[in-house]
Amino acid sequence: MPTADAHPERWDVIVVGAGPAGCAAAVAARRERPGARVLLLDRAAFPRDKVCGDGIAAEALDVLAELGMDAAAIADGYPPVERLRLSAPGGAEVERRMARAAHVIPRRVLDARILAEALSQGVEFRRHAVRTVQSTPHGVVVDGLRADVVVGADGAESVVRRALHPAPPAGTVALAFRAYADEPAGQPGTQVITMTSAHWPAYAWSFPDGTGRANVGYGEVLTAAPPSRAAMLERWDALAPTAGTRDALRAHRLPLSTGRPPVPDGRILLVGDAQCLINPLTGEGIFYAVRSGQLAGRAALAGAGAGSLYRRTMRRALGRHFRHTTLLARVTRAPRLIDAAVRACRHDQRVFDDLLRIGLADGLLTPRLVTGLRP
Ligand SMILES: Cc1cc2nc3c(=O)[nH]c(=O)nc-3n(C[C@H](O)[C@H](O)[C@H](O)COP(=O)(O)OP(=O)(O)OC[C@H]3O[C@@H](n4cnc5c(N)ncnc54)[C@H](O)[C@@H]3O)c2cc1C
Repeated sequence: MPTADAHPERWDVIVVGAGPAGCAAAVAARRERPGARVLLLDRAAFPRDKVCGDGIAAEALDVLAELGMDAAAIADGYPPVERLRLSAPGGAEVERRMARAAHVIPRRVLDARILAEALSQGVEFRRHAVRTVQSTPHGVVVDGLRADVVVGADGAESVVRRALHPAPPAGTVALAFRAYADEPAGQPGTQVITMTSAHWPAYAWSFPDGTGRANVGYGEVLTAAPPSRAAMLERWDALAPTAGTRDALRAHRLPLSTGRPPVPDGRILLVGDAQCLINPLTGEGIFYAVRSGQLAGRAALAGAGAGSLYRRTMRRALGRHFRHTTLLARVTRAPRLIDAAVRACRHDQRVFDDLLRIGLADGLLTPRLVTGLRP
């Protein structure tokens, strides 16, 4: 009987999942070695929906631009969102202009545009739901397709991750609902985040996309069994009721970077949500998805050395940041520290900028942010 290893179709890199992380990895591999045979697999046909707040940090678009993608075309039709209003669990509030404007782009639109950019750089795409991933002495076999290296970019419930690691530990996964609604009156160009000490860490958001619609949602970190849908919706309504109908209401889990698994040696790399890289303070994950995808795609052409190369470059790019966010997530288990930080943001734009940089991209705990956290 022929073994899977004897299958004739061979790729340099197979990327499982064509979301932002997977597209970034596939393009980075092609740019690292033009002519590399890179296959991108996704179970969905694009455009497809993805449960998300749709907030795109400027730094995420920077990475896409570094990958040769047209960031302006990707954001076309969705004007920059300049301001952010934060309400802390104890009631402290701040609203300021962000140092770098964000965008709010429905993922149905964003991800299809990113995939189109990847295809224009010579990546091949096939619709296929991956079920098995198997290491062999000379490569990896994905449902019978052979590759030198496989990048698992298949999101929060990653099949590739499950082949390598146990489930993330309790307290390192969040659950959130999102929906679409008409933009609330008086909120143009302003993202709003409303935190609550009930079921902390928990917050509701309203992110207008500049077209008259807003992405609205509510999420909390799971410390025990997930609450029922009815309980979550009740908590959301109590915190931030939405005027009018909530369309396309859906829930999804967020694997936080506080529970990310180690990056192993070898030929199977994990990126984005598959590697559990979501910011534990904000739920931002798209920046980490594209940055980790970029680094994994570059490392993927190193064959058996891909895992160790990816681990080293990830540590250099994001190691300190992850240590600082883990520390910040731990100390802000006491919600009054968030109130203190928000009050400090009211007094000093630079503290606000530092807080956003660590919450949305690769920032660090700066001395003035640490001072601001003192109640
Ligand atoms: C409610 C909610 C709100 C959020 N809000 C924000 C926000 O405002 N800003 C932000 O930056 N981040 C936000 N995030 C996090 C963000 O959505 C993720 O971090 C980001 O989508 C990760 O990108 P990814 O490419 O790793 O995974 P995904 O975007 O999930 O892409 C994974 C892809 O893999 C495919 N796939 C899955 N399994 C298989 C399989 N077996 N075979 C083939 N293909 C497969 C899927 O179809 C999908 O296309 C939010 C998350 C949630 C749940």
